[in-house]
Amino acid sequence: MQLAQRLDVVAESITLAVTARAAALRKQGVDVVSFGAGEPDFDTPGPIKKAAIDALLAGKTKYEPTPGTPEARQAIADKLSRHNHLHYKPEEIIVSVGGKHSLYTAFMAVLNPGDEVIIPAPYWVSYPEMVKLAGGVPVFVKGQENCDFKISPAQLAAAITPKTRMVIINSPSNPGGHTYHPAELSALAAVLEPHRDIWVCSDEIYERLIYAGQQTCSWAALNWDLWKDRTMTCNCLSKTYAMTGWRIGYTAGPRSLIAAMNKLQSQMTSNITSFCMPAIVEAYSNPNLEQDVEKMREAFEARGLHIWKRLNAIPGLKCVRPTGAFYVFPDIGGVLNRPLGPSAQVATQAVEFCKIILDEAHVALVPGTDFGFPDHVRLSFATSMANIDKGVDRLEAFLKR
Ligand code: PMP
Ligand code: GLU
Repeated sequence: MQLAQRLDVVAESITLAVTARAAALRKQGVDVVSFGAGEPDFDTPGPIKKAAIDALLAGKTKYEPTPGTPEARQAIADKLSRHNHLHYKPEEIIVSVGGKHSLYTAFMAVLNPGDEVIIPAPYWVSYPEMVKLAGGVPVFVKGQENCDFKISPAQLAAAITPKTRMVIINSPSNPGGHTYHPAELSALAAVLEPHRDIWVCSDEIYERLIYAGQQTCSWAALNWDLWKDRTMTCNCLSKTYAMTGWRIGYTAGPRSLIAAMNKLQSQMTSNITSFCMPAIVEAYSNPNLEQDVEKMREAFEARGLHIWKRLNAIPGLKCVRPTGAFYVFPDIGGVLNRPLGPSAQVATQAVEFCKIILDEAHVALVPGTDFGFPDHVRLSFATSMANIDKGVDRLEAFLKR
């Protein structure tokens, strides 16, 4: 039977595929250490769970408004005002099924065939695929490793053409672990300012995971009057509150964008799960949860520093210190094209390297290929210190052989 041609240009998510492969091996009894998917190993804070359980028991099991309940949208608006200095009204917010669905729906709402979307590389695997599904054309701008993978204003300016419709900004960033300082964002904003028909998609899902005294800010907060109508601010509860499985994301932007997204969503998913709405209210209105968020952030910071130091000490690996999110992204150029481990297999790029490491050292890494850097691998440090040491010990021993 026929399958749609639109899928011919799209790859499966490598982050999810690696995680699934590691889980399948574990099921067969193989002791795999996984640095695969970026998801916190912590549990969702109790009060958030309780809010959903209470709502479920109270019978909140019916359809809700497509863009979210008034209470959930108000709680998000309050959070964005309090924490991000963004002044969205509840009707300028739509809740979707995770950050992924928020981004995808937003792209579907604004892109026409042939529209170019500037994506700084390394990039999260799903951006280009979502852009292509929406008919757009990804245009990559390669961040330099000696600038912590950040792109410069001159690089951004050089990538703009009459077809450019959107630029994606992700700070802190997956997979580079880098974070743009507000001054660096301002310099990029100065380039985009005259281009009044270019959207900025600001993916802020790692905003609370920031280390080493680094700062960043919301794009639209750089200058609210200037950017409020040209920015889509995307966020989710997945990373900050260890809620990856709940699937709660949202987009804030001008009313016309939110109305267009609402139209699409009303024909696809409708509202997110009804009894998750009160969990949003709880997450964003219970001040005690700040302690949980900070505790998780501190743990990620310690792990990030530890794994970065350990990986850099392995001959042949080189990595930039992460200042945000929970990823390290080492350059493995020094161990390519030479015999590896007892079987002496040779990898010419990251995909082969990751396969050898998984098969022989039982460590799951994500190849950098689908992040735009085929000589790099990504390790998520959203896993315990014990796992980090176990996995890095294996990697080190294997590469030394
Ligand atoms: N943006 C980035 C940069 C991501 O790494 C991810 C992966 N979690 C998402 C968006 C999607 O988040 P969610 O899990 O809420 O769909
Ligand atoms: N975003 C996380 C990652 O990059 C979760 C998996 C996914 O959705 O890609 O690993």
